Amino acid sequence: MMTPNHPTALQQWIEDIDEIVQAEVNGHDRNFELEATVRRMLELLGEDPNREGLVRTPLRVARALETLTSGYTMSLEKIVNNAIFHEDYNEIVSVKNIHFFSLCEHHLLPFFGIANVGYIPNGKVIGLSKIPRIVDMFARRLQLQERLTSQVAQCLNEILQPRGVAVVMEAYHLCMMMRGVEKQDCLTVTSCMLGDFKTNLQTRNEFLELCGRHSLKSH
Ligand SMILES: [Zn+2]
Repeated sequence: MMTPNHPTALQQWIEDIDEIVQAEVNGHDRNFELEATVRRMLELLGEDPNREGLVRTPLRVARALETLTSGYTMSLEKIVNNAIFHEDYNEIVSVKNIHFFSLCEHHLLPFFGIANVGYIPNGKVIGLSKIPRIVDMFARRLQLQERLTSQVAQCLNEILQPRGVAVVMEAYHLCMMMRGVEKQDCLTVTSCMLGDFKTNLQTRNEFLELCGRHSLKSH
């Protein structure tokens, strides 16, 4: 399980929740229809939405869902924001250990883990801080890990036209851990290899070796 070994990811999660609660206090742009739906859901689960602990829950859940699906309305153009530079660098550029949180589209339960992203430039590089933001843009949607992985890779492929892109994601899925098979230690790994990473075994292995050193399993 990731939590005890990853205080930074846990910290980030707590900060995100704090942010959501703060936005709720500020109280603008409330989605009353979504709140009413959550309230109804609580009733259907046999709860009393009027009891003290639940009074503000519909508001919080609506806010949380809006934040966790905010990737739909993010603009790639704004994220990239002219941070693409001409540079003659021909080796693998990689950003490792990008923590992400997403929601599985089948159960609306979180899946979370790390992404390792690499590319080989073809005259253009992107500001490194933009890569985690691109991961976030696709993660904050209702997702499948497989699709999330290929969307991040395709996105970098389109904006950089590099020699190759590689994305490897490892995640724990709460829908597997909390229900169904209840496999507590089951790590799902997905990868998408494009260009040189797909055609050149040595390049692919170089990247995968690097991912092995930054795997959730190695912690
Ligand atoms: Zn699921």
